[in-house]
Amino acid sequence: MIISMRLHATREEIDQVTRQVEEFGYKVHSIEGEERVVIGVVGVGDVTACMESVEAMPQVEKVVRISAPYKFVSREFRAERTEIRVNGTVIGGDQFVVMAGPCSVESEKQIMQAAEGVARAGAKILRGGAFKPRTSPYDFQGLETEGLKLLQKAKAATGLAIVTEVMTDRDVSLVAEYADILQVGARNMQNFVLLKELGKCSRPVLLKRGLSSTIKELLMSAEYITAHGNPNVILCERGIRTFETATRNTCDIAAIAALNELTHLPVILDPSHATGKRSLVPALSRAGVAIGADGLIVEVHPAPEKAISDGAQSLDLIQFQKMMEELKPYTRLWQESRTTEQQKRVAVSA
Ligand code: PEP
Ligand code: MN
Repeated sequence: MIISMRLHATREEIDQVTRQVEEFGYKVHSIEGEERVVIGVVGVGDVTACMESVEAMPQVEKVVRISAPYKFVSREFRAERTEIRVNGTVIGGDQFVVMAGPCSVESEKQIMQAAEGVARAGAKILRGGAFKPRTSPYDFQGLETEGLKLLQKAKAATGLAIVTEVMTDRDVSLVAEYADILQVGARNMQNFVLLKELGKCSRPVLLKRGLSSTIKELLMSAEYITAHGNPNVILCERGIRTFETATRNTCDIAAIAALNELTHLPVILDPSHATGKRSLVPALSRAGVAIGADGLIVEVHPAPEKAISDGAQSLDLIQFQKMMEELKPYTRLWQESRTTEQQKRVAVSA
C-alpha cells in the first residue's frame, strides 16, 4: 500500500500517519520529495483495515493498494526517475551514460590501455571483472584483489568511475573499497544472501537480469536490495536464453520500455552479452538509446583477439571510438526527449 500525503503536509501530520500505520503492525518507508511525501507500507497480511483508517485521515490525499509484489522499486511508489550520482556522473538523469571496458581485468597494461581509450571516446565508467563467474571451472577466474587494485590505478589515471562484479556476500566490503558501483552478474541475480548484503552497502548496485529470469523476477531482486536499505539500484538487460542460436543470448529490447513503465530505477543495456558478436554491438547500442535506456555497458578490449574472456563480443578501441561518434545524433535526440519529459513533469506539478 502507498500513501500519498497532501502537498506540504507538516512533519507532525506525517508522523501521525506513520504512527497510525505502525499501530496496525506494518513497517513504513517514506520518500520525501520537495513538495510531497509518499509513504510505502510494508508487511504481511490484509491491509484493508489499515487502508480504511488512513484514508480517513485529513492530511492524506490518496491511498493506493499495490498489486505488484515489488513496492519500493515501482513507479507507483515514486513517479520521478531515480537519479544515481557516481563520481560526478548521474545515471538516470539527463545524460546518456556509457560504461565500457574489458570483460576481465587481465594485466596492468591491458586495463590502463582500455581505460585511457574508453575515457577518450567519452565513456564515464570503466568496467572490468576482477571476480569472474565462468561457466567452466577450468577457465580464468579473475585476478581478484590484484584486479581490484589495477582498477583503482586506472581510476586514478583517468578519473573514470569503476563498476566491477561481486560474486559473494563475503566480498561485498572488499569490492566496495575499490568500486564505485557493484555489479551483480546474471548468474547471481537471485543470490538472495548477496542481495541482502548489498542492501547494507552504501555503493550503488548494477543488477543484471538472470539468463532465464522474467522482468518481475528482476524487479523482485531489486526490491531485495532496496528493502534492505540501499535505494541505488541500476537494472541491466543483457539478453536472455531462448531457442535462438544465431546470437549468444536474445536481447529482450522491449524489456527496457517495459521496465521504464514499471519502475523508477535507471535501466541500462549490455549489447555485448546480449549478442555475443562485436559486429552487432553498434546496432544494438543505437536501439538502446532509441528505446530510452539510461546508458550502456559495453565490452571493449585493446586487443580483443588476445582477450582471456569474451573476445568475440569485445570492440577494439577504434571500433568503440567510432561507435561513440555514431551514437551522437541518437543521444542528442535522447537528451531532447528527456528534457521534454522533465518540462512536462514540472508543468504538471506546478
Ligand atoms: C560480465 O559482465 O562480464 C558478465 C559476466 O555478465 P553477465 O553476468 O551478464 O553474464
Ligand atoms: Mn563478459
